[in-house]
Amino acid sequence: MTETLHNLARPYSADSPLAYLLDMAERVAAKPTEQEERDDAEMAAAHHLYTAYYYNLGSTVDATTWQGYPALREPGGRQWEASAVAWLDGGLWLHHTLRITERDGAVDVLTLIVPCTCGRGYVDITLDSEDMLMEVLAELRPTHGRAPHTEEPLDCGSVHGATRPTGWR
Ligand SMILES: [Zn+2]
Repeated sequence: MTETLHNLARPYSADSPLAYLLDMAERVAAKPTEQEERDDAEMAAAHHLYTAYYYNLGSTVDATTWQGYPALREPGGRQWEASAVAWLDGGLWLHHTLRITERDGAVDVLTLIVPCTCGRGYVDITLDSEDMLMEVLAELRPTHGRAPHTEEPLDCGSVHGATRPTGWR
């Protein structure tokens, strides 16, 4: 049986549409390399800023600012999707990833990472719109981009530990 398959003459030419499509299917089926995951993460982040935050982040954070990180699969089965971060200066970062579920498909998750006034940790703020970003920044302006330290309900240290994927800092 196998021999029969191997002896089949290829009935299409190497530059035909079918040859092109079969090659494409092979590439799609192949597991992406870490570099491809990084590149895709950077592209997804830049695209999200351009489409959803065009008037503030899209026009101030250059697409080349993003640094991509491949997906992380921990031994326990926990998985972090590929992500990208962009340095804003002053200790602030943007973090972008796609949350992928069967129900919703791929959903952009954009997080502003803000250093705490106590100097010991960061506060992660998940953004949902340009308006929300402007509100957050207006609150951070008096402290020059530092989140005022509070013990409750979200202590900066516990937020730092609970939501930060290891490996991309
Ligand atoms: Zn703090």
